[in-house]
Amino acid sequence: MNSSNPSIETIAIGDELLVGKISDTNSQFVAKQLFNLGLRLHRSTVVADDLNDITQALQESSERSRAIIVFGGLGPTSDDKTAECVAKILKCKIVEHIPSKEKLFSYLSKRGREVTSATLKQILYPEATQVIINPKGLAPGFFFKMGEATAFFLPGVPMEMEAMFLETVIPEIRKLFQVSKLWSQTWRCLGIHESQVQELMNPIEKKLPQGCYLGYRTFFPENHLTLYWREEFGEVKFKEFQSEIREVLKAWSYTEGDRELEQVVVDELVRQKKTLALAESCTGGLTVQRLTRIAGASEVIWGGFTSYQLDAKNKMFGIQFSDPKDAVSKDCSTALAREAKKKSGCDLVGSVTGYMGPAASETDPVGTVYLSVLGKMLNEKKIILPTSDRLRAQWGASSYLLQMLLQALRQK
Ligand code: ATP
Repeated sequence: MNSSNPSIETIAIGDELLVGKISDTNSQFVAKQLFNLGLRLHRSTVVADDLNDITQALQESSERSRAIIVFGGLGPTSDDKTAECVAKILKCKIVEHIPSKEKLFSYLSKRGREVTSATLKQILYPEATQVIINPKGLAPGFFFKMGEATAFFLPGVPMEMEAMFLETVIPEIRKLFQVSKLWSQTWRCLGIHESQVQELMNPIEKKLPQGCYLGYRTFFPENHLTLYWREEFGEVKFKEFQSEIREVLKAWSYTEGDRELEQVVVDELVRQKKTLALAESCTGGLTVQRLTRIAGASEVIWGGFTSYQLDAKNKMFGIQFSDPKDAVSKDCSTALAREAKKKSGCDLVGSVTGYMGPAASETDPVGTVYLSVLGKMLNEKKIILPTSDRLRAQWGASSYLLQMLLQALRQK
């Protein structure tokens, strides 16, 4: 029963959701907000604009949960049946919400529109419920106790739902659940598999206090690890766990927190007042594009050469290869870096060449990438990306190039 299992559910109402026109992003928003409070959404249901389906879903949820958040069906049209459904369940009248009615009248008169029964429908609510003010729209929401559960009814329109959820539902949820704050710290890693991260974390995971946990997320080719920590276990212990994880992941973690790889590279260039140029073959300029997305990049990103065909490598840099296969080689990435450094005069240069598929060579499979970074020193690397998808391979290659650039910047 819900007293021993204090769960939270959402019910999204709408035919549109069941015919593939829209997806239930409202539940996603609610799940994120609850998660920030240290709570978890246990179930999400989607039902049609149908009185019986809505009633049945509500009854089932109220038997197993402590809070139910319902979206949709509060508008002016004939398919908006939520208030009617709740009034039937509570055996009460549907009445006008006077402050919302005044707001509606003023809204319509400013636009020279008439008041119709359809427009008035959206300011109705079941009398036996408490109103939730809608700061972004006209239709009010409402909530009431249904057995041991509290059911909150919000409009489907995301902007309205979000404002009402944050302003009214969250404070009510805080009262219903013992909410303790959840702190978190993320490590963004590159060059390590998810399974390796898991293995390294096994001993740490075993020691974590109850309710604190690790979250694993793969964002190809990166793996991110987050430590979630309950406030009541204190900052000192939180920091101890952070130090332990930091030490274990130091070979792969390029940053702690939420900055993207390209942001970290640009920030480091700005901090060191250094300039960067790129010479890209297989990534087709993706690395420079990712870097120039970052505000402030113009201070430090000189630009990039996209020398894709052999002829381009020859005309841009005077690099000559007779066979395209020779252009996917360490010699080629080195030459690209050296020539781009001469032409740009930048402090740091990165270059990349590789097989993105479908063609490759007898020795180098699809996903093989040669990378060079030239600053005070020349660093080179060959990697084989575990993918044959062109776009993923390009993204992966440019990520590894960004990581090498960062490592060069951090070299003592
Ligand atoms: P309206 O006044 O527009 O009728 P309403 O409260 O009755 O509002 P719906 O009619 O169910 O809500 O949905 C209005 C719009 O809100 C939908 O067309 C859709 O764009 C969006 N929407 C509804 N439900 C969801 C959901 N669960 N997730 C994301 N968007 C949604």
